[in-house]
Amino acid sequence: MSTTKKSITRKSLIYKTNVEYGDYTVNHVQGCAHGCEYPCYAYLMAKRFGKIASYEEWIEPAIVNNALELLDKEIPKHKDKITSLHLCFTTDPFMYNYTDICELSIEIIKKINTHNVSCSVLTKGVLPKNLASLSQKNIYGITLISLDESFRERMEPHSAPYEKRIESLKELHDKGCRTWVSIEPYPTPNIVKQDFLPILESISFVDKIIFGRLNYNREVTAYNQRDVFYNTLAKQTVDFCNDRNIAYYIKHGTIKPAKDKAQ
Ligand code: SF4
Repeated sequence: MSTTKKSITRKSLIYKTNVEYGDYTVNHVQGCAHGCEYPCYAYLMAKRFGKIASYEEWIEPAIVNNALELLDKEIPKHKDKITSLHLCFTTDPFMYNYTDICELSIEIIKKINTHNVSCSVLTKGVLPKNLASLSQKNIYGITLISLDESFRERMEPHSAPYEKRIESLKELHDKGCRTWVSIEPYPTPNIVKQDFLPILESISFVDKIIFGRLNYNREVTAYNQRDVFYNTLAKQTVDFCNDRNIAYYIKHGTIKPAKDKAQ
């Protein structure tokens, strides 16, 4: 277990996101120790806008030390406009093995719920059991793009093992919580050879599945059959969800008219 060695002070915390399935969001940490190598879009943006200088700096997370005070001021201003507050789009609220970040995330969710606003949560860490005692309107999710641990060690090097993520999600589901999975950014077969159905089956208990392609990656661009591949998997996701009465969302740009040449 670790705690963050750096902290920052912010002027504001709640903002409206442009992410297509998002509403309002809070990102109460700068950087992310998971260090995903897809690459991570949040890392690319933080580097581009001069918030961090390097990957090494990105994977040393800095906690926002005035997050709770900011929420006290900002929730009353925004709460009537918020359908659901998302944690997080540019960091991970349950960063694996970071006790202080996990504890702060729970405090944030509690505070938001006190104002009768629900939260959606997404992590590549382990969802704590005590989330089950918070508002039943919240929805808890994990990212799952593989079941292959050697792939995880290569692409999501410091995140939680897949089995631990799924177990923590199932435990919340079994306690009556709403759950979801983001199968995004899904890799092409030239990055990892794997069967898609076992991934879907491993999370067949959830309430919602989001599926999306991998972008900003040279290996995907080099894979000539990528459109056929993503179209097939998107359809498989839709069929799987329809058969089991699971809600689904296919991210924009994942399904495309297939004009790939055979390799
Ligand atoms: S978990 Fe999310 S924010 Fe963290 S490095 Fe991976 S993609 Fe980026």
